[in-house]
Amino acid sequence: MDIDNMVQNSALVRAREGGGNKGRSWRWKEMLRFPHISECRELAKTIERDYYDLCVYQPIGKKLFHLYCLTRPELHNYMLLLDALLCVHLLNSSCFSFFFYNFLCVPQANQCVPSLAKHEQSCINSLELDPCEDVFHKCKEFLHEYLSQEPFTQYQFSMHFDRFLQWKHLERRPITKYNFREYRLLGKGGFGEVWASQVRATGMMYACKKLEKTHVKKWQGEHMALNEKELLEEVDSRFVVNLAYAYETKHSLCMVLTMMSGGDLRFHIHNMGKPGLTMDRVYFYAAEVCCGLIHLHQKSIVYRDLKPENILLDDKGHIRISDLGLAVKLEDGDLVQGRVGTLYYMAPEVISKEKYNMSPDWWGLGCLIYEMIAGKSPFRDKSERPKSSEMEKRIISKTVEYNEKFSTDAVDICNGLLNRNPKHRLGCQGLGGKEVKTHPFFRQINFRMLEGGLVEPSFKPDPRLVYCDDVQDIEEFCALRGVVLNQSDGEFYAKFNTGSVPRSWQNELIDTGCFEELNVFGPMGSRPPDLDW
Ligand code: ADP
Ligand code: MG
Ligand code: MG
Repeated sequence: MDIDNMVQNSALVRAREGGGNKGRSWRWKEMLRFPHISECRELAKTIERDYYDLCVYQPIGKKLFHLYCLTRPELHNYMLLLDALLCVHLLNSSCFSFFFYNFLCVPQANQCVPSLAKHEQSCINSLELDPCEDVFHKCKEFLHEYLSQEPFTQYQFSMHFDRFLQWKHLERRPITKYNFREYRLLGKGGFGEVWASQVRATGMMYACKKLEKTHVKKWQGEHMALNEKELLEEVDSRFVVNLAYAYETKHSLCMVLTMMSGGDLRFHIHNMGKPGLTMDRVYFYAAEVCCGLIHLHQKSIVYRDLKPENILLDDKGHIRISDLGLAVKLEDGDLVQGRVGTLYYMAPEVISKEKYNMSPDWWGLGCLIYEMIAGKSPFRDKSERPKSSEMEKRIISKTVEYNEKFSTDAVDICNGLLNRNPKHRLGCQGLGGKEVKTHPFFRQINFRMLEGGLVEPSFKPDPRLVYCDDVQDIEEFCALRGVVLNQSDGEFYAKFNTGSVPRSWQNELIDTGCFEELNVFGPMGSRPPDLDW
């Protein structure tokens, strides 16, 4: 192994471990020093006063609203109940009813939240009807309805809300390359490189995907780049990579993404001994990908690029869908047309340039499940490089063959997903992802637990290993000469350069412990000087 590669790998491994200061700069507190509240006047005037956004959706907002409610004893029970309802939807149905009858339906509980009683019957009904639905939705809605009135109004006069404004002020500061420390090159894409990157102030590790401005311009990738960035900003799933920041440097446009340090599925299927994966991993990854696709489809996004290279593992062994470069958002009821994707994994309707909506993604899942089990793609042997005309012919007409590793259920789900007629394909019969989730192939998977992140992966990547090609094997990317950037490019860059993504930024501060350490108030819960108007 090359020395340079070894040095860079060990620097990355050390950075991931964190070390004494959890990877934070020694100046981290100064970097995250609250502005005096008087500097937040403009923000206070312009911020939209939406209860759901400020107190439920935004993680730091939610924490501060919670802290405020705890200063009012008469609200304690509301908060307790709200917390309980958040956890209980992750349990299975028998725990569910136990919880419901023994905790929520006792008279004392109803007394603490009087009008909740009238929702009791509707919850029980929906619980019996379909234990998979979020049966406490109504109760939760009721609690939020109450909290969004007087408590929310009063909250906006509290020091907790002022503190929220201070956090928002920090969140909205412009982002530049100086916010990050850079480690080794992780991979290369169509428009540039992906680097391991660490936020100096918090120590959080990310992958920074850089798009070289001259390449984007030369290949007219502006629309594509903005599309990818905006879709990433919109999705919010533990099964799709998250965007934390978007910023620009002199030469590139940067998307800072969830760090996926366990390598991609292509690597795990083909480079770790005998091709293919054990069945427990196949079920688990297929189920997680299925949840990721369902999330995208709920947002009317077709992904269109499902293949092992694009499914990445994190340090715990969970997967996320990455690379939304080819994804597209459909306006309601619309179909798209367009031959995009990687030929080996392209659905027949895409190849024949028909119109489609979400169907190519279910075909893609069929190819992926097949490849994880067989150790090769359904239409191509491992070392084969068929011409594209041959490849198209096979996808449109070749019968898929299954070896002895496929159980009856595995054959059945692959046949269902690899149905050439999108109208008859599993996942496209009107119920979408639900058809796939309820297939007997997934018998062992508890999807509710999986969606809550409560299923432990059976394979955990080795924290001492760096699961990517050696640095010297990844080709360098350099700026193109003769491409001149001008005023109109600047307008596009400004649309791209939006800085921190609020939800990701706030989660970063919470997950790295910085929020907890910095969010202190005065003695006995008094207003500290930085919050004195
Ligand atoms: P492109 O759209 O140009 O193909 P990708 O998003 O696929 O770019 O990224 C290129 C490569 O960078 C990937 O194949 C992978 O090796 C690496 N990579 C991308 N995103 C991440 C990430 N979030 N974590 C770790 N490595 C990544
Ligand atoms: Mg890619
Ligand atoms: Mg791409």
